[in-house]
Amino acid sequence: MDQGFQFITPSEVIEYMFCPRFVYYLNVLKISQFEHRRTLVNKGRDIHKLKLVRNKDYLRSKIGAIEKFNDVYLSSEILRLVGRIDEVLILSDGTAAPLDYKYAYWENRIYKTLRTQQVLYALLIEEHFQKPVDKAFIVYVRSNNHLESMPITSEHKKKAINILDEIFEIISLSLYPKATKTIAKCSDCTYRNLCVS
Ligand code: SF4
Repeated sequence: MDQGFQFITPSEVIEYMFCPRFVYYLNVLKISQFEHRRTLVNKGRDIHKLKLVRNKDYLRSKIGAIEKFNDVYLSSEILRLVGRIDEVLILSDGTAAPLDYKYAYWENRIYKTLRTQQVLYALLIEEHFQKPVDKAFIVYVRSNNHLESMPITSEHKKKAINILDEIFEIISLSLYPKATKTIAKCSDCTYRNLCVS
């Protein structure tokens, strides 16, 4: 593999969506964040509880999965993306789907960042498993393992690929992106001392 080949993770894509400058600081200037931020890493807070949930096969039968792969690391040189997926399910209709555990409460909506993450997983799964992915499953552990599914359309996939292209344009051309339009985000941002508006 080309030593200079750079991969990004779904978390970095989500951070780019939070503010495009994160990609610049992290991937162009290579200034790491002092702490990983916010709810982006809400999993892993209680690994033990998550493991207990994941051992329950009833979720798999509820979905109609015929095969399950745990902790799947996938990378794609085409997408320049690498990610770890909690579970990849092969469904009886010939499709595949990611299943993600969130140590969070179900709040009657799937947040945009989480949606994007699932679409990126879908792209990785399609490439590696050679099966179409048209949905994703999310388990909200703190709401009694509430299981939610979300559709993934070709439009979603196109948008996600466009975001990846935007990110790699910043990285390859060392572009300094515009600041977030939501100034409130800057108040507790790790990079606020570096940022010029
Ligand atoms: S300080 Fe504001 S503009 Fe700068 S990186 Fe942070 S969120 Fe983005």
